[in-house]
Amino acid sequence: MTRKIIHIDMDAFYASIEQRDNPALRGRPVVVGGSPEKRGVVSAASYEARKFGIHSAMPTKRAVALCRNLTVIRPDFIKYKDVSGKLYSFYSEYTDLIEPLALDEAYLDVTKNKKNISTATEIAVRLKEKIRNELSLTASAGVAPNKLIAKIASDWKKPDGLFVVKPHQVQDFVKNLDIRKIWGVGKVTERKLLSMGISKCSDLYIYDKNEITDLFGKLGEVLFYFSRGIDDRPVVSHRKAKSAGAEITFETDYSDMEIIKSALFKQAERVSGKLKMENLAGKTVTLKVKYSDFTQITRSMSVSNSTNNLNEIYLICEKLLIEKTEAGVRRIRLIGLSVGNFDENENSQELFDS
Ligand SMILES: [Mg+2]
Repeated sequence: MTRKIIHIDMDAFYASIEQRDNPALRGRPVVVGGSPEKRGVVSAASYEARKFGIHSAMPTKRAVALCRNLTVIRPDFIKYKDVSGKLYSFYSEYTDLIEPLALDEAYLDVTKNKKNISTATEIAVRLKEKIRNELSLTASAGVAPNKLIAKIASDWKKPDGLFVVKPHQVQDFVKNLDIRKIWGVGKVTERKLLSMGISKCSDLYIYDKNEITDLFGKLGEVLFYFSRGIDDRPVVSHRKAKSAGAEITFETDYSDMEIIKSALFKQAERVSGKLKMENLAGKTVTLKVKYSDFTQITRSMSVSNSTNNLNEIYLICEKLLIEKTEAGVRRIRLIGLSVGNFDENENSQELFDS
């Protein structure tokens, strides 16, 4: 049965909220992030700031160096979480199959929807309208028969975009795609593919599944199916958990600390987002590292006040990484983290200072 999946992604979410709430910031380069003096990082950059090469996960100090007129705003996660909760309620008017990826990003499976609307496109249009009218924000949506294509599609016409890939269009859409658009293809894999003369998905079609798996290991199978636009991953709605975690397996093993830290930051961002979405905060942060020889270690640290603050979680992990692991000396194939030991009282204090 053909599914109807929407990937909806708010445009420059935190920065857009700040620009919405302070007209003086509109049309100006703005980032939301930590202090440049305290090793803060950029959580979100307005489109005006992006023109200067500024992006999220970049040290705020560097962002300020790139753009002299940059306004740096401390994150107000209570506000963002509140907006995110409203988004969630809009989505749930149509479906309960909502899989949040972050505060500003979610997959919806609207194959069966509560309003019996026949097309996912119609639902995406209505959601974008509602977000604009009620929240004065813009979202981009991708509509497709699976998560892979829906996520690529939501990025296609950003900002304020809507891009629809109908089931019969998937093959045509995917065959001309740059291979790096495929989930799981990082810089190293892309380089390897390019060296083989593969830049588009269709360039992979001459290899059968065994050949690709021989060349790329486990990722090969993903490449085989995803390059053909085939993705059966279900939309999994969120459940109450004891901890929230995220991890990434690199396609090659790294010892470069900048690459490792940047990957760690992205995972911390996912974890922090999940916690905020669920209104949870925890006292124990656990870093997980798998070395190239597959030995795996975890290192934990507990704090006295529960947290779901991105910078705080990241800095704890970074400290653990530097002091309690052999990162930089031994190569790493996987990095991840989790936050657990949740508060009894779910309404935890947010720590603003970053
Ligand atoms: Mg976004």
